Amino acid sequence: MIHENLSRLRERINSACARAGRDLREIAIIAVSKGRPLEQIKGVIAEGIHDIGESRVRETLPKYNALRHMPRLHGVRWHMVGHLQANKAKAAVGIFDLIHSVDSLDIAEEISRQASRIGKVQDVLIEIKTSPEAAKLGLRPEEAVEAIKQMSGLKNINLKGLMTIAPIVDSPEKTRPYFRRLRQLMDEINEFRIANSELRILSMGMTDDFEIAVEEGATMLRLGRAVFEG
Ligand SMILES: *Cc1c(COP(=O)(O)O)cnc(C)c1O
Repeated sequence: MIHENLSRLRERINSACARAGRDLREIAIIAVSKGRPLEQIKGVIAEGIHDIGESRVRETLPKYNALRHMPRLHGVRWHMVGHLQANKAKAAVGIFDLIHSVDSLDIAEEISRQASRIGKVQDVLIEIKTSPEAAKLGLRPEEAVEAIKQMSGLKNINLKGLMTIAPIVDSPEKTRPYFRRLRQLMDEINEFRIANSELRILSMGMTDDFEIAVEEGATMLRLGRAVFEG
């Protein structure tokens, strides 16, 4: 099933790329495996996926420990896509290659502090709340520039890009303005050199809306159901 899912997904991503004049190689599939067993993670890795996304540190630790000693799996990169609490920052920097969900200066500072203790520079994305729903996490676009300026002074984090979660809507097309907003924000930050290096990653697009996200410039798609469910 995972094999068929991935070939269908790659075709759909390819078509979205063709519509947008983009190159398929600019786009990584992050297989979001929260709530799914180790065997299924091994299954996606066997299909050539190297990026695994999880949303809870506590759930990731046993999966990470089970996989890290398997030589064939050394190239796997772990992505934290869920909200990170300060008391989990230490464990998170020990596991994750990229934390997508930095949503405050406080958590950025804690990540940097914990990373410095183990001599790591942690790659992170800043989560942006592109839609006004109260429930959503992330920095508001108006707050982002100032926060990113401050985060740029932290020695042990490396700002790589932005992430957003589109609101739940009744047709994928309605997500387009949120993805476009994220892209514009990244362009502004780069144009005015707000961050200490150029931001290049746009983590946006999930099972229900990834084609629109590709058309709007996504470089990382976070896909759960489309990868694992038949
Ligand atoms: C679960 C999750 C995903 C994957 O969602 P699907 O709709 O199953 O593709 C992506 N991003 C985040 C932050 C998630 O929590």
